[in-house]
Amino acid sequence: LANLMDVSFAEVISKCMSLGIMVSINQRLDAEVIELVASEFGYDVEFIDMEKQMEMEEVEEEDGDHEREPRSPIVTIMGHVDHGKTSLLDYIRSATVVAGEAGGITQHIGAYQVNLPNGKDITFLDTPGHEAFTAMRARGAKVTDIAVIVIAADDAIMPQTREAISHAQAAGVPMIFAINKIDKDGANPQKIYEQLAGMNLLVEEWGGKYQSQELSAKKGTNVDLLLEKILLEAEILDLKANPDREASGSIVEASLDKGRGYVATILVQNGTLNNGDIVVSGQHFGRVKAMFNERNKRVDEAGPSTPVLILGLNGAPQAGEKFKVYADEAEAKDIANRRAQILREQGMRAKKHITLDEIGRRLALGNFKELKVIIKGDVDGSVEALSDSLQKLSTQEILVSVIHKGVGQINESDVVLAEASDAVIIGFNVRPSMQANRLADGAGIQIKTYSVIYAAIDEIKSAMEGMLEPKV
Ligand code: GDP
Repeated sequence: LANLMDVSFAEVISKCMSLGIMVSINQRLDAEVIELVASEFGYDVEFIDMEKQMEMEEVEEEDGDHEREPRSPIVTIMGHVDHGKTSLLDYIRSATVVAGEAGGITQHIGAYQVNLPNGKDITFLDTPGHEAFTAMRARGAKVTDIAVIVIAADDAIMPQTREAISHAQAAGVPMIFAINKIDKDGANPQKIYEQLAGMNLLVEEWGGKYQSQELSAKKGTNVDLLLEKILLEAEILDLKANPDREASGSIVEASLDKGRGYVATILVQNGTLNNGDIVVSGQHFGRVKAMFNERNKRVDEAGPSTPVLILGLNGAPQAGEKFKVYADEAEAKDIANRRAQILREQGMRAKKHITLDEIGRRLALGNFKELKVIIKGDVDGSVEALSDSLQKLSTQEILVSVIHKGVGQINESDVVLAEASDAVIIGFNVRPSMQANRLADGAGIQIKTYSVIYAAIDEIKSAMEGMLEPKV
């Protein structure tokens, strides 16, 4: 404050004391005191909403259509445990290294790009699973263009298959089904298609819109056909970016490496990143000292859809944090420091999420249109009944969307999904796991449990009418 008004610290402190406020030099003044003191020196104070400003800083200048060029798709592989996600990623990684390229993919950096014989590329996020996918989404990253849902043909649609499908749908990411393990006795793809149809997901062979591919990740059978289908989907999506601008994108993973300092794998989503660029991600920043690809080869630049490991940041941003290149080092430092300050002041406060008693307030603000819910229950019958009844509560003003439903305990995956989608979780005769409870507490996600269906319906109906008193 003293600096801003171009007076000495001592003058500010003595002015405070004359107003009866005892302060020390490092103490933060609250808004009223700042106004008071400033007015004593003849200044008017204008407070800036830092959070809003931070959001504005993230908004990018739009690229013109003529500046945008096709970019390769970014793919996440999801599915039930043991259905073959890792095997598929491993097979693709080892099988598609371009002939003549020195060495295969030597390091796990969280993402890799494969070059196909037809000259096209596909980027895979190398941490399979819908939890990682949605955790990144919860931090604001929209990275994945296409989700491949792996389902073992000798098994069935399992709880985590359903979760994966809900997570992809909630993110609005198109799905391709990989029907895996067709080399095994007892593999029955038709049964899987039938179960998918039961969830309203019709594959093309059944007259629907979803591409699917029967394959064996272990033997590599038909994996090339899956890759072709990914490229086809990408063509429909018409993915484009402008390589001729300063880079922006998302953090895939970051850590502190003993020898090299902070290392971060980033995915460039627009523009081109160059060695020496100044990057800001969240409260961290730095000049890119070196870049490596997944083959541990030094690279000088990384264009759209390219994952690279970078050295030079002054900390480890979280996965899913966005990054952006700034031309001016002082500006970059300033932005990162201001964000660090906001985070400190908010005590890492999470974004405010929807709760039932918050609906009335949001309705009054006039920006509440959709109540998203996740339903977990003890038996399928009650989950379906509750889901139907809740959806029927939809009115002209508020749509009730069930973004995921399933049988079983409320788990961490439900909480991340609620966090990324701003949903409430409803349990019927089930409780959250301890980890889920802890996660929900930290993220401010509401979990409501009921043992009578009507009680659930009544309470949500009242909430939608804005009738619940906010708890103070
Ligand atoms: P994840 O948990 O989904 O990542 O599954 P994994 O890739 O670890 O695979 C689980 C098990 O299934 C491993 O023992 C794999 O070897 C096996 N597996 C994966 N794909 C196939 C396949 O296409 N055929 C056969 N026979 N086994 C497979």
